[in-house]
Amino acid sequence: MPNKDYYDILGVSKSASQDDIKSAYRKLAKLYHPDLHPNDPECAQKFKEINEAYEVLGDSNKRSNYDQFGSASGNPNDFFGGRGGFGQGGFGSGQFSGFEDIFDIFSSFGGAGRKTQVQVAGEDITVNINLSFKEAVFGCEKTIKVTKLEKCDSCKGTGAKNGKEYETCPDCHGSGQARYTQNSIFGQIVNVGPCKRCNATGKIIKTKCPDCNGKGNTKVQQEIKIKIPAGIDNGQVITMRGKGHASTHNGPNGDLLINVAVDSHEILVRDGYNLLLDLPIPFTTAYLGGKVKIPTTEGFYELSIPALTQPNTVFKLRNKGIKYLQKEVYGDLIVTVRIEMPKDISKYEKELVKKLDDSISLSSYKKFKTYQDKLSKLDE
Ligand SMILES: [Zn+2]
Ligand SMILES: [Zn+2]
Repeated sequence: MPNKDYYDILGVSKSASQDDIKSAYRKLAKLYHPDLHPNDPECAQKFKEINEAYEVLGDSNKRSNYDQFGSASGNPNDFFGGRGGFGQGGFGSGQFSGFEDIFDIFSSFGGAGRKTQVQVAGEDITVNINLSFKEAVFGCEKTIKVTKLEKCDSCKGTGAKNGKEYETCPDCHGSGQARYTQNSIFGQIVNVGPCKRCNATGKIIKTKCPDCNGKGNTKVQQEIKIKIPAGIDNGQVITMRGKGHASTHNGPNGDLLINVAVDSHEILVRDGYNLLLDLPIPFTTAYLGGKVKIPTTEGFYELSIPALTQPNTVFKLRNKGIKYLQKEVYGDLIVTVRIEMPKDISKYEKELVKKLDDSISLSSYKKFKTYQDKLSKLDE
């Protein structure tokens, strides 16, 4: 099994300075950051590799071991832990490598803000809300009730009485992460994982906080006001960062995810930011011209149908659609005319139309005329 070439992965030469390695790593990490490529396993893999490479080359001791022995610890067997799929951490602090280093990248992308390895964010809360068509078009404010875990006030989230009755975990020295050595056919594997002694909290509670029974957080009912932006559509999700459950491991709060469902309009059909209207009109209106009342987001509107309007003619009413999310731009209202024939005809109407028919010359019907001409040239 050949070792990966970490220099290759970071695209630097073997003689690159630590600064060069750092800047190469930053560039690549920025490029392949999973926040920018959600659901892209290839990028995720690449991001992992980049971190793995920097974990070693970014540390001058590990780098010199790697240069000499082809492994970060000087023990070639260590590599199998990291890459063969036997455990997560591999060598040293494996999967969490370099995280602090790219924290500025996280924040510059407005990322999840998950700071360091020992912090585990609280759980997200998901709620569903239903909006009327109008509420979605113009935006609105909604109040929802959630039951969530909040940091316990009396112990400041520590779970220890008065927030003081605890000591730093001797196994992980407060980091919440511990090294576990494991024997395998490849030799010894060092894994880094959540500390079992303190359940990754980094502390051992001497006396439990009586208010939260040592949990560090309590369940509360909360009313949360949500501003729904104009233009939101069915199926979209609003994320309120940090409005989810409090972390049980002193990390940031989870997020509040709001699934939005929007009622459909009686007549108009939404297509992105455009509105579609299939408009039936009497054939006489198409022939003679006239006005037809149509609905818009801003009330009714009189649409002028010119005389001699052909079937399926499309009228585009600019900016009569839906406002774009977070932008002062509007979609269009697209009206397609469907000409309707009456379902019955009286004797009187028949006579009238007969006269009409006699009066219209064939040349008035462009398509029909062309068709007739072609027909007359056919052999049979
Ligand atoms: Zn511990
Ligand atoms: Zn408490």
